[in-house]
Amino acid sequence: MTKNQFTIITLFPNAFNDFMQTSIIKRAITKKQISIDIIDIRNFANNKHQQVDDAPYGGGNGMVLQAMPVINAINSVKLKYPEAKTILLSPQGQQWNQQLAYKYNQKNINYILVCGHYEGIDERIMSYIDEEISIGDYVLTGGELPAMVIIDCITRLIPNVIQHQSHLNDSFNNSLLDYPTYTRPEEVLGMKVPEVLIGGHHEKIAEYRHQQALINTYKKRIDLFKKYQLSAKDKIIIEEYKSSLKKNKRKEK
Ligand code: SAM
Repeated sequence: MTKNQFTIITLFPNAFNDFMQTSIIKRAITKKQISIDIIDIRNFANNKHQQVDDAPYGGGNGMVLQAMPVINAINSVKLKYPEAKTILLSPQGQQWNQQLAYKYNQKNINYILVCGHYEGIDERIMSYIDEEISIGDYVLTGGELPAMVIIDCITRLIPNVIQHQSHLNDSFNNSLLDYPTYTRPEEVLGMKVPEVLIGGHHEKIAEYRHQQALINTYKKRIDLFKKYQLSAKDKIIIEEYKSSLKKNKRKEK
């Protein structure tokens, strides 16, 4: 049985063709772990030119997506999925992150993702929206890329969508970034794979990876690092890393 069902309401249905036919998303659809329906807002236009935008009241630049075609599109989905949660993709929404992805994945429900375009959407659609989600503090042309980001993030968390639950080691779980990874060959342009990874000693490998994840986070995302509860051993790892940095600086001088 399909676990997560997404309906995307968009002016650009074709934008999702490759997305749905590629990699993990394609496999999840084939295995019925997710399903994705696409609804073209223009099918709900009430004029023969299928126009769904108009100039803003009060003047100003750009065009505004009209309320009624979007509301009618949402209502058409609600006939099939009355409990569906309606999300508006918007730079003004709550910022998407890994924790939200987990939260949304655990709720085994239908999602309606509304993609805006132009200057925005007529504000009167807001009474049909349960949540606004932003994928970051920048402005994109439309909600299509954010919708793909959200579906991709949620889908890879569904059990057995990716092999061996490898997402458990991904960055942002436990407030740590992922550790560095390597694959064959053992040497690339004089750069060797760390010795410990070739030895086959699982405990030492796990220790090394944790140490690298700590250092990686300390180097790249000090904000995340500060949130992480360091063990006594972790503190030693970081102190050693800091003094190795100091030694290297002295050598450079
Ligand atoms: N004028 C709007 C504002 O400043 O809030 C931005 C409109 S934007 C050009 C058009 C559409 O792209 C939005 O309605 C939204 O659906 C989508 N969009 C743009 N940036 C986004 C972001 N960071 N996160 C989610 N959706 C975004």
